[in-house]
Amino acid sequence: MSETQGQRVNGHIRERFDTLVVGGGIAGLESALDLAEQGYRVLVVEKEASIGGKMIALSKVFPTLDCSSCITTPKMSAVAHHENIEIATHTSVTAIEENAGTHRVELVRRPTYVDEDLCIGCSLCEEACPIEYPDPFEEGLGSIRAIAVPFTNAIPQKAVLNPEYCIACGACAKVCPTDAVKFDQEQLIYHVDADSVIIASGFTLNSVYLKPQYNAAMSRNTITPMQLERLLAPHGPYGRVLRPSDGKVPDSIAFVLCAGSRDQSIGVPYCSRVCCMYSIKQAILLSGAVPLADITIYYMDIRAFGKGHEQFYKNAQAMGINFVNGKVARIDNIENNDMSLRIENLETGQVEENRHDLVVLAQGIIPQPVKPDGLNAVAGDDGFVERPEIHRPAWTGMEGVFVAGVAAGPKDIVDSIMDAGAAAAEASGFLSRREEKGKMFF
Ligand SMILES: Cc1cc2nc3c(=O)[nH]c(=O)nc-3n(C[C@H](O)[C@H](O)[C@H](O)COP(=O)(O)OP(=O)(O)OC[C@H]3O[C@@H](n4cnc5c(N)ncnc54)[C@H](O)[C@@H]3O)c2cc1C
Repeated sequence: MSETQGQRVNGHIRERFDTLVVGGGIAGLESALDLAEQGYRVLVVEKEASIGGKMIALSKVFPTLDCSSCITTPKMSAVAHHENIEIATHTSVTAIEENAGTHRVELVRRPTYVDEDLCIGCSLCEEACPIEYPDPFEEGLGSIRAIAVPFTNAIPQKAVLNPEYCIACGACAKVCPTDAVKFDQEQLIYHVDADSVIIASGFTLNSVYLKPQYNAAMSRNTITPMQLERLLAPHGPYGRVLRPSDGKVPDSIAFVLCAGSRDQSIGVPYCSRVCCMYSIKQAILLSGAVPLADITIYYMDIRAFGKGHEQFYKNAQAMGINFVNGKVARIDNIENNDMSLRIENLETGQVEENRHDLVVLAQGIIPQPVKPDGLNAVAGDDGFVERPEIHRPAWTGMEGVFVAGVAAGPKDIVDSIMDAGAAAAEASGFLSRREEKGKMFF
């Protein structure tokens, strides 16, 4: 939503929507589209500079191995072009209050230092900018300029300036053909009213929740699964799979499952549900990308719970991926930036020391709770949104507030999309019941 839209009330912008969707990942996008197709007006609020969530950064998806961005980009575009949907990126929900049967929402849009209405996404500013920093979209493996469109298929295609790295040299402003660079842009506070809310704030991954004995920070060749997704992506940071420390093609790759889940001591006692499958997927993709490499998956048990998942697992075994039922006790960085893994092999009962030159730690799925004033009640003990009634899995227990996707607990894309449909159906039922009630008074 641009600054010029909406009605200004006390210096702020006030608009009314049928539904506010918090989060522009695949779950939020699906919910928004479902409702918009039924004629409801939807506002999608996304805290990052682009919609698309985690899925837009994935390489391919299990169990079909379809290209992830080929599925996500058309959805993002459909949302962006839908006449009933507004998108507010770089924006956080800071308060939601129930007020006379509706939700009064406060939104804070952080400055991008670029006027969205003027920016044409030409990238001339990016070319002129002399400063580079580790690219968050490439999980720090590549670099991006201090002012840039966040990634190739970002929506909106608007440049964003990172004030942490900008040296205010003015090179970007000089080349901008539309005078869109605004060094003095300030944060903007919006107020909107929304009759219903869908929380689709997804998850985060954080190495803080890894077992400390894995010394994750000690080696550049101990990488996260999202980093591997980017290495495997056709337009990834290096264009091929290379070790971050020295650019060598890896020849012995290890996956450590449950590295950040199912462990009370690290604060993540639950199963993250997708790690077994995404690790198997990544191993399969690696065997194509680095055909000479040995690939080993260390696991406690494999949870291949979904349709087609067991067969996917069997295919990986048949392809020669080495599955070792064992607990990884510790990981040490040894010479040449290789890693030594101490394993308790549960099949042989032996303790082994195995050397690998690239290690992928399956981090846990960590909730990303939406806790603006007034919505605190919806987060459960584990941080994921509570669903108090088993026969209404999209309802949060709060009037008109629903949940979709990983915000309610770890799950894969198919289940996130099904959740999104359920949340949209609940929201639509809620809105139409309100309309009926409204008619009864006239
Ligand atoms: C490494 C890895 C590989 C995976 N591979 C697969 C796979 O191959 N197949 C598969 O089915 N699943 C896979 N998954 C799981 C898949 O990523 C999730 O199922 C899917 O992304 C869930 O979508 P979501 O919309 O619920 O959450 P997200 O993708 O996390 O989207 C949530 C969005 O909400 C935004 N947000 C959060 N908080 C706020 C806030 N307060 N205000 C505004 N916006 C907010 C976030 O910025 C984000 O854009 C993988 C997961 C990982 C970690």
